[in-house]
Amino acid sequence: MPDDSKSAPIDWKAESATCVELLRDLIRIPTVNKGTGEAGDANERVAAERLAEHLRAAGVEPKIVEKKKGRGNLIARIKGDGSKPPLLLNAHLDVVEADAGAWKHDPFGAEIHDGYIWGRGAIDMKHMAAMSACTMALLARHVREGGRLERDVIFAAVADEEAGCALGSMYLCDEHADDVRAEYMLGEIGAFSLHLFGRTFYPIQVAEKGVCWVRATYQGKPGHGSMPDPESAVLKLARAIERLGKTRMPMHPTEVVRQFLTGMARELPAPQRHVLRRLTTPQVAALILDYLIRDPGQRRSFGAMLSNTASPTVVRAGSKVNVIPGRASVEIDGRTLPGQSESAFLQELRRALGEEPASLEVLRSLPPVEAPATTPMFELLAATLARHDPSGVALPYLIPGFTDAKAYTRLGTICYGFAPVRFDPTHEISFAAMYHGHDERVPVDGLGWGLRILHEAVSRFAGA
Ligand SMILES: [Zn+2]
Repeated sequence: MPDDSKSAPIDWKAESATCVELLRDLIRIPTVNKGTGEAGDANERVAAERLAEHLRAAGVEPKIVEKKKGRGNLIARIKGDGSKPPLLLNAHLDVVEADAGAWKHDPFGAEIHDGYIWGRGAIDMKHMAAMSACTMALLARHVREGGRLERDVIFAAVADEEAGCALGSMYLCDEHADDVRAEYMLGEIGAFSLHLFGRTFYPIQVAEKGVCWVRATYQGKPGHGSMPDPESAVLKLARAIERLGKTRMPMHPTEVVRQFLTGMARELPAPQRHVLRRLTTPQVAALILDYLIRDPGQRRSFGAMLSNTASPTVVRAGSKVNVIPGRASVEIDGRTLPGQSESAFLQELRRALGEEPASLEVLRSLPPVEAPATTPMFELLAATLARHDPSGVALPYLIPGFTDAKAYTRLGTICYGFAPVRFDPTHEISFAAMYHGHDERVPVDGLGWGLRILHEAVSRFAGA
């Protein structure tokens, strides 16, 4: 154990103010990822340089590596004594586009209004980049002042997450694996306060769905538009899409989802408690979703946790108004639950489409990710949250989308979503709605609170 008398106490007011200014600088660097996968798109390097400057001032020398010019990935490491394997903090530096006209304040202005820092990336997820850099600076000071760490603590601020991670975490895991290999990773998405029915929850991502993007193609006889054919490719496709939209795919509640729903149910008053508990019973879950959960957002979000899903997104057919085309296709965004194979999903999809397509091609496939919620790290994260908010409840959580965890899991790393922020429950701000939505913002106080929690969890786990 370190000798506490050696380290000067941390001035949290000053540290929070530093974190706020760092985050504001990062938001003002518009790292918008248009998804071209090209050099210069998003240009995360500028944001990585800003973080590097912050780390260098604290005596930490980071490196910036890129697969394509401008697509910077920052990696920094504080050495421990090597008695335990490293811990990785991860944040992506790119953001999605923002329609400035629909925002109340400039999405790249990082203005402060009503106690919030406004801007694209405020919670997805430049706040984690800023909190991680500040945590690294504090750990560096701890070591400089004679303190010790049992583990290396690594910080990766990566490019290209919003377009599939190829130039960011996937590239790091393929070409710089030794720089980022760790026992655990803390990153997206979790530890934000979620206020429901008067209670506060802190979901911690331990699992995410897999991706299975497919193209279904239908064929029919081409012909003249003046003589309709009910068996044309376009009409077959339309019937299939309609059936897909009306079909609920089979329920497969996973262990993590059971823990999430029963953990949440335990805290809620009677009617909600029973409804949530029964969602874990496949035989009645569909009925509950269709008839008892009124809020359409909640219905979709619970639905996505309980089954594989398939959304038709890109439809292609025909090119001339008077010609019945011989082919029509739809691209489908499929998402698979942990424990579900690609072939099992394709079978469910075929059933949901009803009409057998002439071909069903898999365009991209990424496996689901699931980490246990019973590790010493998970317990430490939950306990740290509980210490700072005794009335809040941490819950393991499955997200329907995907994150950098897809990449790090390939190195054997256990990945958790832990980027703590507390929202004022009386403000009724939906964290989920701000993700890629308008008016993204983070509370100034809630960010300082998060920094303290992240620093405490990391220092304890690293044995500081
Ligand atoms: Zn994100």
